[in-house]
Amino acid sequence: MSADHRHPADQHDLIRVRGARVNNLRGIDLDLPKRRLTVFTGVSGSGKSSLVFGTIAAESQRLINETYPAFVQGFMPSMTRPDVDVLEGLSTAIIVDQERIGANPRSTVGTVTDALAMLRILFSRLATPQIGSAQAFSFNIATVSGKGAVEIEKGQGKIVERKSFTVQGGMCPRCEGLGNVNDFDLSALYDDSKSLNQGALAVPGYTMDGWYGRIYRGCGWFDPDKPIRDYSPKELSDLLYKQPTKVKIDGINVTYQGLIPQIQKTYLAKDVEAMQPHIRAFVERTVTFTVCPDCAGTRLNEPARSARIAGANIADVCAMQLTDLAEWVRGLDDPSVAPLLAKLRHILDSFTEIGLGYLSLARSSGTLSGGEAQRIKMIRHLGSSLTDVTYIFDEPTIGLHPHDIARMNGLLLRLRDAGNTVLVVEHKPEMMAIADHVVDLGPGAGTAGGQITYTGDLDGLRASGTLTGRHLDDRARLKPSVRAATGSLPIRGANANNLHSVDVDVPLGVLAVLTGVAGSGKSSLVDSGLVGRPGVVAIDQGAIKGSRRSNPATYTGLLEPIRKAFAKANGVKPALFSANSEGACLACNGAGVIYLDLAVMAGVPVTCEECEGKGFQPSVLTYHLAGKDIAQVLALPVADALEFFSAGEAKLAPATAILTRLADVGLGYLRLGQPLTTLSGGERQRLKLANELSGTGSIYVLDEPTTGLHLADVEQLLGLLDRLVEAGKSVIVIEHHQAVMAHADWIIDLGPGAGHDGGRVVFEGTPAQLVEARSTITGRHLAEYVR
Ligand code: ADP
Ligand code: ADP
Ligand code: ZN
Ligand code: ZN
Repeated sequence: MSADHRHPADQHDLIRVRGARVNNLRGIDLDLPKRRLTVFTGVSGSGKSSLVFGTIAAESQRLINETYPAFVQGFMPSMTRPDVDVLEGLSTAIIVDQERIGANPRSTVGTVTDALAMLRILFSRLATPQIGSAQAFSFNIATVSGKGAVEIEKGQGKIVERKSFTVQGGMCPRCEGLGNVNDFDLSALYDDSKSLNQGALAVPGYTMDGWYGRIYRGCGWFDPDKPIRDYSPKELSDLLYKQPTKVKIDGINVTYQGLIPQIQKTYLAKDVEAMQPHIRAFVERTVTFTVCPDCAGTRLNEPARSARIAGANIADVCAMQLTDLAEWVRGLDDPSVAPLLAKLRHILDSFTEIGLGYLSLARSSGTLSGGEAQRIKMIRHLGSSLTDVTYIFDEPTIGLHPHDIARMNGLLLRLRDAGNTVLVVEHKPEMMAIADHVVDLGPGAGTAGGQITYTGDLDGLRASGTLTGRHLDDRARLKPSVRAATGSLPIRGANANNLHSVDVDVPLGVLAVLTGVAGSGKSSLVDSGLVGRPGVVAIDQGAIKGSRRSNPATYTGLLEPIRKAFAKANGVKPALFSANSEGACLACNGAGVIYLDLAVMAGVPVTCEECEGKGFQPSVLTYHLAGKDIAQVLALPVADALEFFSAGEAKLAPATAILTRLADVGLGYLRLGQPLTTLSGGERQRLKLANELSGTGSIYVLDEPTTGLHLADVEQLLGLLDRLVEAGKSVIVIEHHQAVMAHADWIIDLGPGAGHDGGRVVFEGTPAQLVEARSTITGRHLAEYVR
């Protein structure tokens, strides 16, 4: 292929976007070179996700769904076309994001990559003693997926046959090969103050106007109007535990069984990661899993556990740190399985290259951080022989030390060189440095963004004068002087995970930064040494509990003064102006969207036709405050709302106090009514921080607060952290961003490596001392950075 053929001017080698208007995008036109690495930059809220995920990935996925037979499409959400005039030259898009892989201990690093399946085959071929008829390790994958277990893998628009953990012959009888046993929280299963007819059961699908209602009423064992707390022991036991029993309902023979065996059969036999989101939420709420006491989580029966290769059984091997496992596999040399060994070595090396060598195959997926989960998903694709795929990454450097980023970059380039188009949303200059092509969005956030401010190569971006261009070569300087600690929080003998009995004094009254390569033990130290101590407030990026109607206005308490102001101005009740009470649209209960519960995928949001997505009854919208109705106010971005409530008719001090905090944490572009479910992890963390700013906590712990922040936003964040410290608070952040390290008063560096090669404090002192000493990886990188 000649270089000319690959030139972006070639129509066939372009993704063409014309007139993109998703969210804040202002009719964007754009050509993207295929089989190149393109990085999307711009301040947070400028529209990067709206373009890359909301437009390009969404349309690719919709087109793929259309290629499925009508029967399969019946199980899929009918996705509407994103608001874009033309989108041409798309290839299959695979999103590699940071969504957690699933919180069920049955899903492990081994099961979500192919590594465990390969090891099993290896044990069935090489282990001694050979058990039965090699049955113990004939993990019969075909039989399991042959059950018609067709799953739709979320976000990838492709149908996969899921391999299951079933181990024929060799499985532990107690837990049936699951590695854990389950325990139910009954209070989460039903509300005992209610009767069946009042909707006592909180199990998805168990509605009284549906099939189960007919069974409960028809079987004659229960009084459907009696509250469950008044049930006799026999009735309760039938409701919960009855073993399968034939009953005749309306002339039809059906099998009744109690709630618990029924749930075990229909829900728990499945991987949590393969569940519909609402069922998964139900299972996570109701069921706790504990390690199986018989097999200690190895899922294997006694004979299978006794099968060994070079002295190790499959459970030992799965518990090894991956770098050690790679060594162990390298030590095996059996020509009969040479191709298998080669594949296994390749996948294990990929783990190390991507900076995950400190994990083990037995590590449960639910304990991985977002960044780790993203890199695990990457492993699945690195071995793929697919070409001409569009891979889309969302801030792949999250959780990575500057030292790890170089390796990650190498992998992204490898995907490109295998003939794929790689699109990356990213803020770190270390990542932008390898881009073939850059698309910069802006100039501002929200309504002040949504335009393309630059496309081209990196040098052009530098010269472009855009906000990103101007900040590209920013190098924070070391501060001439640092603050002195006002006290300290001692941590003694911290031993969690890989920590080697760490003793450290965390300084108070200053900005302290905890550094170290991925897997060195930063989270372990924070979680075991700081979280839960008096005065310590940990502000993470995790989901915010609440309803589908929750938004920044309800979460921060901002809606309260606004409702009251509306009520006062109109002489009516405040409750009218809240989307979860009286004024709510009757069709959507105030959510503005209706969730279609489909057979396979539940919870597909569709804009409510009744209120056009506003969430309120039409009569409520006849009331105004300074010329705006409540829906119009909730549609305002924070920055505009701040202006609206600062002066004039709508002047409202309690509202401006909250809005100022939101603007301070860099969320000025966020609309007051934007559902919390649509926020990114970084946005959630900043929202929680805004709430905490008024709180009583004295020691704030933040995990990578720069996530999702543009270089220009980082300065604003540092300003905020400084203000916190100056107000007498202590701030401790885990960070990889070198501008934050340079700005610290004190650095605690963990290492020297990851996993069992980490877990020690390798440096404590000021950034200047760290740079001066250059004794650690962090020190050497920081010295380069502040040069
Ligand atoms: P970026 O990825 O650059 O941070 P986004 O594309 O996420 O920016 O956001 C661009 C604008 O669109 C912001 O004003 C944001 O609040 C808004 N927005 C993003 N997602 C949604 C959504 N699901 N519903 C409504 N508005 C949204
Ligand atoms: P960092 O925050 O520096 O990336 P972590 O504290 O997450 O490092 O991890 C340090 C070590 O502890 C790693 O070897 C990691 O695999 C292990 N580890 C972390 N969390 C868990 C967990 N929940 N279960 C088992 N091992 C864990
Ligand atoms: Zn077991
Ligand atoms: Zn509605």
